[in-house]
Amino acid sequence: MQMERYLSQVAVKEIFPSGQRIIEESSIAVIGMGGTGSSIAEMFVRMGVGKITIVDDDKIEPSNLNRQAMYKEDDIGLKKVDVARTELLRINGETQVNAIDKRLSFNNADEILSQVDLIMDGTDNYDARNVINVVSARLRKPWIFTAVEGTFGYVKTIIPGKTSCLSCFGYPDRGEGVACTIQGVVPTAIRAISSLAVTSAIKFLINRESQGELVYMDVWKPVLDILPIPRNEECKVCGNL
Ligand SMILES: [Zn+2]
Repeated sequence: MQMERYLSQVAVKEIFPSGQRIIEESSIAVIGMGGTGSSIAEMFVRMGVGKITIVDDDKIEPSNLNRQAMYKEDDIGLKKVDVARTELLRINGETQVNAIDKRLSFNNADEILSQVDLIMDGTDNYDARNVINVVSARLRKPWIFTAVEGTFGYVKTIIPGKTSCLSCFGYPDRGEGVACTIQGVVPTAIRAISSLAVTSAIKFLINRESQGELVYMDVWKPVLDILPIPRNEECKVCGNL
């Protein structure tokens, strides 16, 4: 551990050197390298995560730049995973960065997700979240759900067999959702939800537990609420775990 580099976070009693060692030994997958995913990846790499796998097949567009802080004007037209990999290694050369230029699907999810300790949802559509929900339940892999819309967003830790999953509360299992450029999203809401998601992830990695509550945050009002989401015994995804 490079103690000097991480001095300020290790000084926090919730992390402490033992938690920092866990972060450095962890392997994380971040699905989607848009606003939320790239923010999440940056925070993890700055905090010293051992290995990060980033998954996305999109190219950088001008309309991404107001909120996707990983990318700059001269990156337009390049692949998000290529630029993100270079930037993440510039931030922290100690982290292993595995860039996968694919859209997560039922065809490739088992292979990608089985190799990590924790999955971070940086996606923007129901289809992709459903892939993560179903495959993580099968593999018993914990994951952090995120969603941002307008001025608000949600974060939920999902531990298959222990907490509720997305299907437990009837979250749609298909659909593209509506692109950020159409429905609108405040860039600051993306940063706030990303911060909550990384905090939830690090808490889980260190303590290995979560009640799986849904955290709702609106940056405009502002308000933060915690909604308990009990497991559903009849859930078609996790009811038999
Ligand atoms: Zn469920």
